[in-house]
Amino acid sequence: MYNKGNELLKLCNEQNKKISEIVIAKEMAERGLPYEELIDNMKLVLDTMISSSKSALNKEVISVSKLTGGDAKKVEKYKNMGNTICGEIINSAMAMALSTSEVNASMGKIVAAPTAGASGILPSAIIIVSEKYNLSEKEMIYGLFTAGGIGEIIAKNATISGAEGGCQAECGAAAAMAAGAIIEMIGGEPETSLHGASFALLNIMGLVCDPVAGLVEFPCALRNASGVINALVSADLAMAGVKSMVPFDEVVEAMYKVGKAMPESLRETALGGVAATPTGEDIKRRIL
Ligand code: SF4
Repeated sequence: MYNKGNELLKLCNEQNKKISEIVIAKEMAERGLPYEELIDNMKLVLDTMISSSKSALNKEVISVSKLTGGDAKKVEKYKNMGNTICGEIINSAMAMALSTSEVNASMGKIVAAPTAGASGILPSAIIIVSEKYNLSEKEMIYGLFTAGGIGEIIAKNATISGAEGGCQAECGAAAAMAAGAIIEMIGGEPETSLHGASFALLNIMGLVCDPVAGLVEFPCALRNASGVINALVSADLAMAGVKSMVPFDEVVEAMYKVGKAMPESLRETALGGVAATPTGEDIKRRIL
């Protein structure tokens, strides 16, 4: 049906449909599932996302390694003090992204979207936008289908693996999925969604994957916090009418080439970046 962004856009324009509607039609055809079952399945995904985004806001969720945890609670408390630099929405989004990352590091239930390491970004973006615009559960579910469609294109034409393409492929893909989704959720056109998705990838192109001690904790959780802000900023840029000079498909291809050009030490091996700092090495020795 479609493999690239321009093919997806063509279908949206020809059929006068949203990205989510095209993705749903494709899923129904390919998986042979009725509409109701597809929606019910995605509702389960949404429920898990909401749970992981909220569960570490008011209680410390510590990782299995005991290396990280409690930061979501700190940011939530800071936000509630009402004197943040970035304001309530940004801080709330960061807290929720951290929450899912902490649930992941504690072996709790999350939705890999597109991966476990980047699982905090999409849920936080969907929730914060639905809260601000008072959107329905159905609109959130449709947003997740849009995100899924964008993620599938990135996975098919590039990679969503930190081991293959660095953190740009994980947190970048998650932010692109989130930006495209929230743009549609607030009434943006399909083309606008792809501009937002392009910005999210462009904004962190080249970001390396360097988890300390090889654990998906530090700096991963922080990159989820900044990743959701990347999605929000990218969506606002696109909704303001700013356009990506380079089309989405070419941005995806560029991201893949950058990932391939990265040395192995910067692709989830924990041999470079912050993982290879004296402190990173010391933590690795202590934990492992
Ligand atoms: S640093 Fe690597 S392991 Fe951590 S979130 Fe990014 S891609 Fe995933």
